Amino acid sequence: MKLFLKKTSVIIWLFIVLCTVFTGCGRTAPLTRKVDTAMGTIVSQTLYSSQGTDLAEEILREIRLLEEECLSWRMEGSEVYAVNAGAGLMDGVAVSEELVSVLQDCRKVSAASAGAFDITVGKVVRLWDIDSWAAMEDASDFVMPKEEQLQDALADTGYDKISLEANYIVLPARLQLDMGAVGKGIALDKVRNVLDDYEVEGAVISVGGSILTYGSKPEGGAWNVAIVNPHDTSQNIGVLKLVGEWCVSTSGNYERYVEKDGVRYHHIINPKTGYPADSGISSVTILCKEGLYSDALSTACFILGEEEGRKLASEFGAEALFVSNSGEIIMTPGMEQYFHLSNKAN
Ligand code: AMP
Ligand code: MG
Repeated sequence: MKLFLKKTSVIIWLFIVLCTVFTGCGRTAPLTRKVDTAMGTIVSQTLYSSQGTDLAEEILREIRLLEEECLSWRMEGSEVYAVNAGAGLMDGVAVSEELVSVLQDCRKVSAASAGAFDITVGKVVRLWDIDSWAAMEDASDFVMPKEEQLQDALADTGYDKISLEANYIVLPARLQLDMGAVGKGIALDKVRNVLDDYEVEGAVISVGGSILTYGSKPEGGAWNVAIVNPHDTSQNIGVLKLVGEWCVSTSGNYERYVEKDGVRYHHIINPKTGYPADSGISSVTILCKEGLYSDALSTACFILGEEEGRKLASEFGAEALFVSNSGEIIMTPGMEQYFHLSNKAN
């Protein structure tokens, strides 16, 4: 009898241990979803992690800190604000090594795009002030900047005029930095570092038009990242099916714009002309491994157009998908394996 009881309890314990092990292995990380605003746009998080709630808070904090302490030209406490305020100072302005490194990477995209991407375009962007006009319900009072104002502002641009030292930046008088074309991508690179510090099975984080995929879905299969139809923003043209870590950024003339007398004035400026870029495309999506590059390249490719844009993307090992003004979808050969047209997305 005693032996029987002993045997039974051993079997029960074994059963409990095996159940715990197997259900533990099969247990999927809980899903956390969170939508907030930061960097003047929507931040949306889908996280599969046992630490989901804390993680989502931490990610949001990181993005907001990046804006407040580093990248914003509006917020007085930020490094970019200080650099802009110190334009013309011979000794420059002391900044973090991180900002210097970001500006070095930006300079690479500027040089490779022959200045199409240029973070010193700040004054011209301010003159158009498309962000404010686009936010208005009634923008019928919109007035275009005058040609001579634009030419004056253009004279105060030039990425190659910035001096970057180990931990300070010298910005010539009257130049103004604007990190709007790259900030959301930089945020994704920060977010990836946070995810690495937590136990995360999978995540998709979007900061405006820039999206990070990470890990995998608990049920397996690829993440679907939708690409908006620039000619009808209520529709998607298709999805990118992605597994693991990727950054996807889209720039388009539908994001922020005003229309006057049948002409659309959007927020992406061609630094050669001072006017909103008009290269025959309505949107471009870039796929690569780093957020800074996906974001910077999407802006640059939008300005350059399809032919030059393709070359630029390939220089950085990135894939590109263009939607032309006539609605044609053109992509680099490497993009074809990820892109699925809407009507056969599943
Ligand atoms: P994105 O939506 O990423 O293409 O970035 C557009 C934003 O970048 C604009 O709202 C401006 O703040 C800024 N921007 C506009 N034109 C340029 C340019 N040629 N180079 C760099 N930044 C730009
Ligand atoms: Mg961009």
